[in-house]
Amino acid sequence: MNSLLNKCIESGNIGRDEIIFLLGLQGEDTVRLIRAANEVRQRYCGDEVHIRGLVEFSNTCRNDCLYCGIRRSNTSVRRYRMTPDEIVATATGLAKRGIGTVVLQSGEDSHYSGETVAEIVRSIKASADVAVTLSLGERSFADYALWRQAGADRYLLRHETANPALFEKIHPDSTLERRLSCLRGLRRLGYQIGAGCMVGIPGQTLEDLADDILLLRALEVDMAGIGPFIPHPGTPFAGEPAGSLDLTLKMVALARIVTRDALIPATTATGSIDEFGREKALEAGANVVMPNHTPFPYRVDYEIYPNKRCVTEDPNQCGPCLTARIFSIDRTAATGKGHSPRHLRAQAYKATKGHGCPWSL
Ligand code: SF4
Repeated sequence: MNSLLNKCIESGNIGRDEIIFLLGLQGEDTVRLIRAANEVRQRYCGDEVHIRGLVEFSNTCRNDCLYCGIRRSNTSVRRYRMTPDEIVATATGLAKRGIGTVVLQSGEDSHYSGETVAEIVRSIKASADVAVTLSLGERSFADYALWRQAGADRYLLRHETANPALFEKIHPDSTLERRLSCLRGLRRLGYQIGAGCMVGIPGQTLEDLADDILLLRALEVDMAGIGPFIPHPGTPFAGEPAGSLDLTLKMVALARIVTRDALIPATTATGSIDEFGREKALEAGANVVMPNHTPFPYRVDYEIYPNKRCVTEDPNQCGPCLTARIFSIDRTAATGKGHSPRHLRAQAYKATKGHGCPWSL
């Protein structure tokens, strides 16, 4: 155990069997794993926590993912779409308040054409010095290219599970191959890419979770989002048990150990199953928080899982509340755009050599 934890700290070069073993740790051994991940986080990322302002601009979705509260079959959802002007005004307002990255997220909603989204990104970039992260699901390579040209910096597209059969079971409208092909296309276009997974999906095994960690390493992700499965009453998974905090924290720790310096959020879902879940995730290797700045009346209706934290609170209070939580665990709140270190290294290499990194996807 000691030599394995040392390997975790010194190189992170651990294999599938070792990851499965670490995922099965209990009690004090789990604490030791989390401490090791926290040490890696401190060495490679420092004490700063990056703050991203999240705007969920549409809860309309063409897909029917089995776990998701806003899936198209859930007819009890009150659907909304923010207008492009509302989206731009919300995003630029965040930038004026000092937030260096805005994350625009929605269901897979073709109401927003490629050109509409590109114009939203262009307008935000023209009026504010801010990084833009998109999280709009699987779209065409042409749309991704258009948005990158318009100035989008990053794209979040969680793979959710690296088990192809489980992926297809919970995502009737897609395949793992298609999802990975989107991620590879996004990387080719120069985006900073984020993948990630859910912990505790019905039918998921520790072997599947180990493969999720290995996939994050293989993709050389800039960002890795990990959160627990939370059953929504309006889905076929109503009544299934939620993913555990303990296993989620071990996954965050392992993501930190294998990626070394990726941007890893303390997800809202983790904060929704435990009052101090986000602080615990930050102490297990995470270094990003994403306060929810979706305005009223929309924010209560982006219910991808039930009892989501903070949806009835004033969005203006979310930032200060999260900052206070960061200080409470002796970390500092970063300012600026907070680009991924992997991306900055690739840029520096390109500037020196005149071409991209040979190891990029
Ligand atoms: S998980 Fe995303 S793509 Fe799937 S139904 Fe929910 S919003 Fe749509």
